[in-house]
Amino acid sequence: MNKDLKDKTLEELERIVVGLGQKKYLAGYLFKFIHAQNGRDLSTLSTLSKAFRAQLAEQGYFISQIKIVDCLSDPDGSAKYLFELADGERIESVLLPDEDRLTLCVSTQVGCPMGCAFCATGNIQFRRNLTAGEIIDQVYAAEASSLKCEVSSEPDPGFPLQTSNLKLDSSGALPRITNLVYMGMGEPLLNYDAVLRSIRILNHTSGRNIGIRHITVSTSGVAPAIRQLAKEEIRPRLAISLSAPADGLRDRLMPINHKYPLAELLNAVRAYQAETSQRVTFEYVMIEAVNDTVNHARLLVKLLRGLMYNVNLIEHNPFTGCEFTGSSRERIQKFADVLKEAGVETTIRFRMGRGIKAACGQLQAGYEPAKREIRNPNTEIQNKPE
Ligand code: SAH
Ligand code: SF4
Repeated sequence: MNKDLKDKTLEELERIVVGLGQKKYLAGYLFKFIHAQNGRDLSTLSTLSKAFRAQLAEQGYFISQIKIVDCLSDPDGSAKYLFELADGERIESVLLPDEDRLTLCVSTQVGCPMGCAFCATGNIQFRRNLTAGEIIDQVYAAEASSLKCEVSSEPDPGFPLQTSNLKLDSSGALPRITNLVYMGMGEPLLNYDAVLRSIRILNHTSGRNIGIRHITVSTSGVAPAIRQLAKEEIRPRLAISLSAPADGLRDRLMPINHKYPLAELLNAVRAYQAETSQRVTFEYVMIEAVNDTVNHARLLVKLLRGLMYNVNLIEHNPFTGCEFTGSSRERIQKFADVLKEAGVETTIRFRMGRGIKAACGQLQAGYEPAKREIRNPNTEIQNKPE
């Protein structure tokens, strides 16, 4: 069993504490120390007796901590953290300030095995799943960092400069993170147990207490896991990365579509909605002349008929070795107009963090991209999934 106390739900801590012959309520002190106070050093937890703290340490229990290696901030107000894990692997998280919200985009895996053609994370080798403790600690480490980031890039010339909305408190600390999106490196639903465990822990009222409506999990479409999530007692908001309105094109862009084609994926989304009555968000990466015509927009409306949903259009963000181009503003607008005319709530996502390679699909945590070349499937289908 993993002996990281940060990784444990309150109920699990209770079992551990009772198993060590101690009173059950002491688990509450431990949970609060770790999750409400970002406590890291068991020896400073003075509400537990010295003897019990020593007993925990003797049994190998510890509170894990990921290490900030680097923090870059973009003139648009976003910031990217590079973290090192206990075994030396690296991940990234992105902080996105927006009016009264402060959102952290967390990673769930080191790399991603899905290999979507348009995504930089999918283009590095998959290394491993994160533990719940490592997912959770991205929040605590970012909050503890006081945002001492270097502003390290020129403003994105394609976008007006934003002044950061971050209001630091008198000690210079970051305001509390209000929202979480599981949209960093990796496919959250391939690391189902750790992701769900991290949500349970972060949502717990005795701990960090982030509202479940403020937590969104984004998936490339692992249909059986969506069905499973529908049955849980705790259900985050769901975002589905669609990026194509038909199987042929989606097969080429997102290899997972071979396993769970659109009909199967959308049936799982229907089951999720039947169970939760929640609206879902469909994300659609806009790639010039690949998936961004008015006809694609019309097909999309037809495909999603009957669902409760909104659409986020994300201009494709570039990365080395990928020859896709993001759709022009004009094409995105035309696409959005078709959706809006059909009554679909549509948002064109602000491309935050591009200057520091922190925008959607750009996270690589310094790992070398695989040698495969990503050709534009519009001209040549090179990136065939295995
Ligand atoms: N694996 C999950 C979550 C991480 S990807 C998923 O695929 O949903 C987060 C979002 O970034 C997804 O919506 C994905 O479609 C989008 N994305 C990936 N690569 C991108 C790129 N190069 N430009 C813009 N968005 C991208
Ligand atoms: Fe993985 Fe999501 Fe990137 Fe696809 S888009 S490779 S699922 S991180």
